[in-house]
Amino acid sequence: MSAECLFCRVVDRSVPATVVHETETVLAFRDINPQAPTHVLVIPKEHYPDAAAMAAADPALAGTVLAAAGDVAKADGVDGSGYRLVFNTGADAAQTVFHVHCHVLAGRAMTWPPG
Ligand code: 5GP
Ligand code: ZN
Repeated sequence: MSAECLFCRVVDRSVPATVVHETETVLAFRDINPQAPTHVLVIPKEHYPDAAAMAAADPALAGTVLAAAGDVAKADGVDGSGYRLVFNTGADAAQTVFHVHCHVLAGRAMTWPPG
């Protein structure tokens, strides 16, 4: 837990968020600037700067985050139509919050490759 980390502050509820899913180890909440009708961020409650750091330190937790992303898609009713999971990692990938988060994006047709 870092007092300077925005998503650690979401975890401790000092920054408000619209939480859609919570377990002992993960939290999922709606993105403040949604890029699709469904845009949810799934994070581990424990602080890791990015997906690689989380997976290296705790592979089971990485699996738990992915499973939670699937649960979020199901709860939003988009598991049938399809959804995109994204872990932006580092500056060139446009990561802006350095507490690992999985974007769950759905509810509109998407293109590939991303910009
Ligand atoms: P990144 O660019 O690091 O992959 O994604 C960070 C995401 O966090 C962005 O989509 C941004 O809109 C979202 N975000 C930034 N600040 C807040 C906030 O205070 N609350 C919520 N719910 N989302 C935020
Ligand atoms: Zn954090």
